[in-house]
Amino acid sequence: MEIENNESEFEMGQEYFCPECNRNHTKGKIYKDHLKFFLKNDSDKGDGEKKEEGSEGENIQLEVPDIDDLDYDEEAELLEAFNEIEEENIDLEDGILQIKEKDECIQAVKSLPGVGDATLSKLIKAGFDSLEAIAYTPPKIIINESGIGEKTTAKLIKASMEKLKIGFKSAEDIWEKRKNIARITTGSTELDELLGGGAETGSLIEFFGEFRTGKTQIMHQLCVNVQLPRELGGLDGNALYIDTEGTFRPERIIQMAEALDLDTKKVLKNIIFGRAYNSDHQVILIKEAANLIKEKNIKLIIVDSLIGHFRSEYIGRGTLANRQQLINQHLHDLLRLCDIHTDLAVLVTNQVQAKPDVFYGNPLQAAGGNVVAHGSTIRVYLRKGKGVQRVAKIIDAPNLPEGEAIFSITEDGIREG
Ligand code: ADP
Ligand code: MG
Repeated sequence: MEIENNESEFEMGQEYFCPECNRNHTKGKIYKDHLKFFLKNDSDKGDGEKKEEGSEGENIQLEVPDIDDLDYDEEAELLEAFNEIEEENIDLEDGILQIKEKDECIQAVKSLPGVGDATLSKLIKAGFDSLEAIAYTPPKIIINESGIGEKTTAKLIKASMEKLKIGFKSAEDIWEKRKNIARITTGSTELDELLGGGAETGSLIEFFGEFRTGKTQIMHQLCVNVQLPRELGGLDGNALYIDTEGTFRPERIIQMAEALDLDTKKVLKNIIFGRAYNSDHQVILIKEAANLIKEKNIKLIIVDSLIGHFRSEYIGRGTLANRQQLINQHLHDLLRLCDIHTDLAVLVTNQVQAKPDVFYGNPLQAAGGNVVAHGSTIRVYLRKGKGVQRVAKIIDAPNLPEGEAIFSITEDGIREG
């Protein structure tokens, strides 16, 4: 069915009728699609009356060699070349934007009192390349990681905080900040609604529940969905996935991407993956992740699962306090990322053996007190329902009403219950 073009209501993801290849297109979908069809259409039709019909359609023709002169391989090659050019263009544009943005942050750090070339280089090398990164990091960490002295560090933090106007704020300022929060759709309207419209940026969101309740599936789905345009429930961004259990499956990503009619290769390319083999490794990966966020346009960080390694490594060592402290630090590394990058969503999973109330004795709960000081956290408890159904329940969220949502895990991914 032909869809009538309506310029005024033209949005990304919407279908429109393309006179050049005489069929419907989706706005925002790649040009490759068009070209492929164009070539195919043209070769099918020989001289093709289509070209004459489409009034301004010929300009594309100029760039494409006469189809009759091409055998199949050449045609495929041409397609590939077009795809490459297209991809390069996208990367280039993004890259320049990001460099520009990064440069502005570095300039701001450079403008702090007492920051000369040597200090600046130490800060950047250690990943403190923005006022936010300096202001939100505990002095001890800056000192250890950059090698800058204690007094200078204290001055830098104070100056960064002043520049960012950190301190007491009016509720109106906070409201302004919260208005900028964006959300990633989970694939289920009910689950989205439970979360206040999807997985939000600027907060640490935790999904916990027993084995096979869908934690990992939701994380996979969000890695795909974050890449969607904002109009379709994404953030136009990439994902970073830290897998501590070895359960990340690219096959599953492909299934979910295909279900959304996305370019699977691109979707996979846009998920940066790190396998953490122990808790130390996990901590290091998150510290490294901090340096990748701007460079790689990361809008979603996943840690699946958060405390598994800590739990198994510290069992029976009689060092519960030590473990707790390490988890706390790790959690704060994650929370700091939420504070520094307001357009970043951070999601973690947690496995619980039995009833959720057992979880309250978990060291993570102890971190809750500090967590609140930094921003909000949302905790969602998952349990099994009938068959493919799962039930999500908000356990602890500063601004969400208590409630439950039912969703399903299907071959296409997370869907309505
Ligand atoms: P958790 O991380 O909470 O232990 P998972 O997220 O791995 O659990 O969820 C496992 C569930 O996901 C299983 O019950 C399984 O039925 C479902 N699942 C996994 N892959 C698929 C698939 N390809 N199609 C349909 N359901 C799937
Ligand atoms: Mg899992």
